[in-house]
Order: sequence, then C-alpha cells, then structure tokens
Amino acid sequence: MLLDQQWKKVLNRLENELTAVNYDLWVSSLSPIQYANDELILMAPSVTAKNQVNQVNIFEKLTRAVRAEFTPYTFVRVTDRDEYEESLRHQDEEFEKTVKENSNLKSKFNKKYTFENFVVGKSNQVVCAAMHSVAENPGKKFNPLFIYGGVGLGKTHLLHAVGNYLNEHRPELNVMYVSCEKFINDYVESVKNVKSANTSDFRDKYRNVDVLMVDDIQFISNKMSTQEEFFNTYNELYQNNKQIIIASDRPPKEMSALEERLRSRFSSGLVQDIQMPDYETKVAILKMKCAEEGFLIDNDVLDFIALKDCDSIRDLEGILSKVTFYASLLGKNSTSLEDAREALKDYGESEKTNVDADKIINVVCDFFKVNKEDLVGSKRNKEFVEPRQMCIYLINDMLNMPLTAIGSIFGGRDHTTIMHARDKINEQLKTNPHTKVLVNDIKSRISKA
Ligand code: ADP
Ligand code: MG
Repeated sequence: MLLDQQWKKVLNRLENELTAVNYDLWVSSLSPIQYANDELILMAPSVTAKNQVNQVNIFEKLTRAVRAEFTPYTFVRVTDRDEYEESLRHQDEEFEKTVKENSNLKSKFNKKYTFENFVVGKSNQVVCAAMHSVAENPGKKFNPLFIYGGVGLGKTHLLHAVGNYLNEHRPELNVMYVSCEKFINDYVESVKNVKSANTSDFRDKYRNVDVLMVDDIQFISNKMSTQEEFFNTYNELYQNNKQIIIASDRPPKEMSALEERLRSRFSSGLVQDIQMPDYETKVAILKMKCAEEGFLIDNDVLDFIALKDCDSIRDLEGILSKVTFYASLLGKNSTSLEDAREALKDYGESEKTNVDADKIINVVCDFFKVNKEDLVGSKRNKEFVEPRQMCIYLINDMLNMPLTAIGSIFGGRDHTTIMHARDKINEQLKTNPHTKVLVNDIKSRISKA
C-alpha cells in the first residue's frame, strides 16, 4: 500500500516532466512490485513498454523522480513478467546453492568422530586436551598444533572432533579439513589450469580459512613445489592468527625430504604425540563402541579382546567387529566368552602359523651377526649372551613354548636359566625404550622371513 502511494507521488512528478505520449503510453502503465535493498522494481506490461521506459531520456527522469520520493540512493529496475519470473527462479537456485554449499561445508566432518566419544587415557590425554583447547580458542594458543602417532590411534578422529565442535560453537568460522593428498591434488590441478585462473581459486580456497587442518602431512615429503605452496599458505594464515592443525605419522624431525623451513615451522608450536592406549583405555574404548551399537558384552569378554595383540585402535575395532559379526550370525546381540573365542580363533594365526623356533633363531643370528652354534651354545661372552637372552624371550613370547622345551633347544639348560633370560628382557622392556624398538624390529623381520 505504502509502495503504491510513494509511486503515485513519483507519477505526479513525472506527469509534468514527460511528453504526454511517453507518460500516458509507457510510464503510467508501470506498476511497482518490490522495493528492497535500495532497489525499486517496476513491472512493465510488455517488452515494448519496458524497452521504451529504458530509453535514456525517460529513464533518467524516472530515476530522478524516484530518488526524490524514495531515497537518494535508490536504483530503478524496469522489468517485464517473463524476465521477472526468470530472475526469481535464478534467485531460488542461488539460494539453494548457497544453502547446499554451506551444508556441504558443515557435513565435511564425520559426525561419528566427536570429543564426546573419544576415550581419554594416559596415552592420548595431552593430545586430546591440546586439541580441545585449540577448538575453544582457535589461533590463540598452540599454533601450529602438530600431532603425530602410528596408524589407527585416533588422529583423524580428533581432527573431525575439532571440526564438529567448531561447527556447533563457532558456525561463523570457515573451518577446513583436508587430507594431504587432496591438498597436493588441488595444487597440481591448479598448476595445470594456470591459464584459467585456477591458481587463484586454489589460493582463495586455502587462504580464506580460519582454521586449516591437514591430515597425514607426511605425504608432502618429496613434493617440493607443493611444499613451497604449503609454506606460503602457512605463512599467510599464521600471520593472520589463523589456526593450523597438522597430523602426521611421525614427528617433524623424522620427516625426510622436508624442507628445513617447513620443519622449523611445524616444530614452532606444540608438537605432541599420541600413543597406543594402555589396557584400561582399550577396555573403555571397547565398552563405548559396544554401547554405541547396543551390543551387550561381559567383562571377561572385554578382557579377552583387550588382551589380544594389536597395535592400533582400528585393529581393536576390527577384532570387536569380528565378535559382533559372529554373534549376529547366531542371531544374538551379545556374546559369551566361548563364542568370542570361536569368532577369533583365526585371529593372529596368519602371522604366527609359519613362525617356528628355527626361524626365530635364524633371524636373531642374522640380526646380531652371530652363528647358531654360539647362540645356543654355552659361551658366556657378552656378544653371545645378549642375543641368546633375546632369542629365548622371543621364542617364549611368540610361540608360547614351555620353558623346559626352550631349555632343550638351548643346549639342555634348565628352566630357571631360561626364565632368568626371559625376565631380563621383560625388565628391560619396562625401563629401556630402545629395547622395545629392538624387539619390534626383530619381530617384524621374523614375520617377514
Ligand atoms: P589415525 O588417523 O590416527 O590413523 P583414526 O582417527 O582413523 O586413526 O582412528 C581409527 C579408529 O579408532 C577410528 O574409528 C576412531 O574412532 C577409533 N579411535 C581411536 N582412538 C580412539 C579413542 N581414544 N576413543 C574412541 N575411539 C578411538
Ligand atoms: Mg588418519
């Protein structure tokens, strides 16, 4: 109503300024349909009418009169029905597109991975606290935050947890999660399309974020030109107090073929490792996963699974799903210890079946450069005693062979001597981190031999 009244005033002004023909035939036939954002949209009854009004001599006077009655900044747009409907459709599409883009951005993060369902224990509490604090205060505290640890220990889970947290608490922030591989591909694509201005698309994409998370950064090693681009992106974000979080399977100092300047950037914030959880944390993780799936599980079964030899949470989940799958075949949503044993009867066998005492002895001899007679013999020189203890430990650990049987392999030694050798390595495993590395190294050679 108000719009019509305003428009009448405009018409009054124009009546005296335009020729009778222009006024009667064209301008007075316009109807105002929308006034928003300093724009007045006028609908003409036909394309001809629209074109006539759009002629400079009429349009200038029209605009001046509109600005006198509306605001001095008002823009005038004359349209016809078809054009108007088309523009409405276009607006809808644009709107849907933005909504979709935004929701794509939001759904980038895996809803399954949150802080709430990340079980915290000794092995990961510092990492988890650091990630949480960065999510609460991006760009303020630990920048960059560099987390590292073996496969399947929860790094990606934590990155998504940060993303989900920020989406919920700081929806205005542009948070980006990207695998290193994707970053490299995007970069390579942009270089290929250098003529079509895609490099600037690439820059806009990566440099306009508030939080950048790059997963599995170790893959950037050897990719020199990508490193260069990453370095530039990094600097730009860092200078603008944007948060950078990086995950890797190893610490910066162990990333070979990494430019020194990147290594020093990565090390300049907080570098924190994530370890394999201890037994209690494993049990807690198993409990939570079962609860999520509505699977009922007794403590003895939890114990049984948590004691299985595995070196990542992903493996642990794999073991659990073997158990739940077996139960589902039986039509149950719970399991007895017997069923769990049955479900896992092949687990780990594949690595162990072809390992025997001979193989272990051969690998140990090869590793320590001693010959077999000296290893199993009775010489007490240091260069034989250490490999011998290691070999005894490994045979006991990997084959679960009785001590007396091991004794007879080692020249008929009695079981207390064997026990002593085994305990010595066990003791060192607790106090000396090098022993653990050594043991794992030899074990992996044995399984590959
Ligand atoms: P990474 O990226 O370090 O290789 P992921 O983040 O992919 O490991 O984790 C592997 C699996 O283990 C995921 O399903 C993840 O949810 C689970 N996981 C790892 N750590 C935990 C934890 N502390 N609590 C709950 N689930 C975990
Ligand atoms: Mg990962």
